[in-house]
Amino acid sequence: MEEKMVLKLLNTLSRKKETFKPINDKKVGVYTCGPTVYNYAHIGNLRTYIFEDILKRVLQYNGYRVKHVMNITDVGHLTSDSDTGEDKMEKGALDQKKTVWELAKLYIASFKQNMSDLNLLSPEIWCKATDHIKEQISLIKKLEEKSFTYKTSDGVYFDSKKFKKYGKLAKLDIKGMQEGARVAKNSEKKSITDFALWKLSPTDKKRQMEWESPWGKGFPGWHIECSAMAMKYLGETIDIHCGGVDHVPVHHTNELAQSEAATGKKFANYWLHGEFLLINEGRMGKSKGNFITLDTLKETGYSPLAYRYFCLGAHYRSKLNFSLKALQGAQNSLNNLNKTIYDYDDPTEVDTQYQEKFMKAINDDLNMPQALALVWELVKSDMETGKKSATLFEFDKVLGLQLQESFDKAEEEKAEIPDEILKLAEDRLEAREQKNWAQADKLRKKINKLGYNIEDAKDGYHIKK
Ligand code: AMP
Ligand code: ZN
Repeated sequence: MEEKMVLKLLNTLSRKKETFKPINDKKVGVYTCGPTVYNYAHIGNLRTYIFEDILKRVLQYNGYRVKHVMNITDVGHLTSDSDTGEDKMEKGALDQKKTVWELAKLYIASFKQNMSDLNLLSPEIWCKATDHIKEQISLIKKLEEKSFTYKTSDGVYFDSKKFKKYGKLAKLDIKGMQEGARVAKNSEKKSITDFALWKLSPTDKKRQMEWESPWGKGFPGWHIECSAMAMKYLGETIDIHCGGVDHVPVHHTNELAQSEAATGKKFANYWLHGEFLLINEGRMGKSKGNFITLDTLKETGYSPLAYRYFCLGAHYRSKLNFSLKALQGAQNSLNNLNKTIYDYDDPTEVDTQYQEKFMKAINDDLNMPQALALVWELVKSDMETGKKSATLFEFDKVLGLQLQESFDKAEEEKAEIPDEILKLAEDRLEAREQKNWAQADKLRKKINKLGYNIEDAKDGYHIKK
């Protein structure tokens, strides 16, 4: 397709669908907040990463070269958003009787396995908070020089009142928040929306992760890592920044404030947020004890791609309720799709009319439910099957359901069937055509005895080991 279609994305900043315009003509920088590696990712977290993977694939499908940066939070994410509580990593290490470094290694590996199981494209750059302490310290110094910070007995804080547009992303009602918090106010924070940039190590306890800094030994606050690493790898203004909706009022609000305060420039042109995965209508959360991992689904017999298919069935900005029944529905649909394609001819040419409709759906703020509906419309159409497979494999560049891989595997399996079995299958087909059901049945049993299964299909039969 020569003519370029407009890509529209809902920008949290304006709450409107906007036409996407990158800073550079062909290159797009995307920063996605990555996992905090003190535990396994749950399938709610993974829903967000699936949405981000779709975004990346849609950008690529539109001809952009995407530089995707994902961080790994391996320090400094406190158990509460108000800068109190323990560091999730230090607490996780203690609970699980591991060092923090072991903990990070274990859960990073598990996260990367989840990504590969779900067919998520790898980011161009992975970056760990602990590898970027220097960058975080220099960003805090810059904020200090510009008088956006103040010190307390436990660290260095961002003075949110000094940043006039504080809260613009979340449209926060700061006055209301302050009034609500007055009763519980007990910290040295000047304002409820101020947040830690650097926390000092406690004097009575030895932390496993701590670094020297101009303000004393300690560790960075959670938000500063994303600003420091996003700017290091993507520049002071980036094209797209994403995460789950829970990041809007705190984490992304604070990232935006400290970045724009430091540079005086707009931090991200587009902010995209994925809605929650729910379970029994409540949010799935790491600390809520209701979380399901991808490995559990695998052990129960579901394929990770069925979970991906399940997520594609809802728009990324809609809440999605998880149940095994619904997942089973997705697994059945995906199996049916693969089975149907298995009967198709080898791919010939892509149908441009369908491709255009597909592009329209995905470019309308990633409307994947509509894209999936189009898949089934195509399957049910009377198009020749070589064109169908070519078009579906083209769609799969965005869907990421590995349709071609499964088609190729089936072809290989077909090629591996011994001649003896193929001969029996042909004889059986002939018997069926002559309506000699008894003979056909006899031949089926013979095939089964030799360790193969035969299933009837529109164009003949399928044999499987
Ligand atoms: P975390 O590892 O807790 O920092 O979370 C990783 C990502 O998952 C973040 O972008 C969160 O916004 C997102 N997230 C957390 N809980 C859910 C959920 N129930 N559904 C979808 N995304 C979630
Ligand atoms: Zn972040």
